[in-house]
Amino acid sequence: MALIVQKYGGTSVADPDRIRAVAENVKITKRHGNDVVVVVSAMGKTTDNLIALADSVSSTQPGREMDMLLTTGERVTAALMTMALADIGVDAVSFTGSQVGIITDTAHRKAKIVEVKGDRVREALAAGRVAVVAGFQGVSTDKEITTMGRGASDLTASALAKALDADACEIYTDVTGVFTADPRIVPQARKLARIHFDEMLEMAGAGSKVLALRSVEFARNHNVPLHVRSSFTWEAGTWVTNEEPNVEDPIISGVVTDVSEAKVTVLGVPDRPGISAALFEPLAAANVNVDMIVQNTSTDGTTDISFTMPIADLGEAEEIVRRVAAEIGAQGVTHDRDIAKLSVVGAGMKSSPGIAAKMFRTLADEGVNIEMISTSTIRISVVIATADLERAARTLHTAFGLDSGQAYSAPLPERT
Ligand code: ADP
Ligand code: ASP
Ligand code: MG
Repeated sequence: MALIVQKYGGTSVADPDRIRAVAENVKITKRHGNDVVVVVSAMGKTTDNLIALADSVSSTQPGREMDMLLTTGERVTAALMTMALADIGVDAVSFTGSQVGIITDTAHRKAKIVEVKGDRVREALAAGRVAVVAGFQGVSTDKEITTMGRGASDLTASALAKALDADACEIYTDVTGVFTADPRIVPQARKLARIHFDEMLEMAGAGSKVLALRSVEFARNHNVPLHVRSSFTWEAGTWVTNEEPNVEDPIISGVVTDVSEAKVTVLGVPDRPGISAALFEPLAAANVNVDMIVQNTSTDGTTDISFTMPIADLGEAEEIVRRVAAEIGAQGVTHDRDIAKLSVVGAGMKSSPGIAAKMFRTLADEGVNIEMISTSTIRISVVIATADLERAARTLHTAFGLDSGQAYSAPLPERT
């Protein structure tokens, strides 16, 4: 008998019909003789709506209270899913992250897993029941309820798969797998049959939402193969594994787009040792994830420093940056939300020079201005204006020979 962990994302459980459709799939999986652990996300846009609700009630949002609020979303789905299963004769029981012993550190909203106990899941499975676990959440070493970052139900699934030594970890979503680009932006994107953890990690790090970064990190570190597939078509999807790429694989495996970051610029910063540390230390202490950083050369003894960071943290970061700017005698602080990050990712880059040059030439010919650049051994990212993003992504996708002969044809459910 195999043990299968199945994670269903927000669109997959967005309404009662979807919940019933998922329950049917769980029943079929069980009927094939498998033990099943179901990890669920909050229904549709519930998490966004809860955040908006908090914003409308108060500007004081302690992490503890936000986590108490946000964890309710997944809890609703878990209970409803369990009832839907009961309705079709499947014995199931729902659990919160805390109940199944997902122990995290104390960093509210971005908590890291320190241990997964899983005893209650094992007991439920031993009793022949399906365990339905509310994703995205855990309990801290201080016994407080925590969440593990946006999209972290993927992490719940990979962590449980590891702790339970599952035979498969299936991530059900609203597209049919991992593509060479987001099919909502590049209709000619091709589905990848498989992708190496390292490339998936770079894609997730570059902002591809299809898998949350931490879940890929966890899956890679503990060698948990992931199968990303659709809960709308149920067809085989993409395997994310540690299988080495073939020599004949394309040099570039994907183009990644990300509109979740903003650019902050500190103007007229005195050019002396210690300034960057003074700026970035307090941001790190506040858990702000700074991404790209550019410092211009100094002309008159001052310089501008620009960096990108999640729009979601902009309020908190700006307060810190304005305070530090005043302390160090900088001339001002600006921010720009209308920027986007565009990346190309591919393991083949290591042994194939000229990818950056080709990327920059393609963008130049398209009249796209590059504001910032960063690279890793298998990724090149640029910051451009959001208005240019879709056109630039499609052009790069074509230029690197990734276009499929036909446009994405499965349903692309609207996320309401
Ligand atoms: P879920 O709610 O199921 O976790 P997400 O919205 O987090 O779903 O992730 C699925 C979405 O990721 C897709 O609808 C798609 O628009 C987006 N996406 C971004 N990049 C890719 C890619 N390379 N391949 C497939 N989907 C992608
Ligand atoms: N509901 C959470 C979010 O929207 C977690 C998840 O869906 O994975 O970020
Ligand atoms: Mg997701």
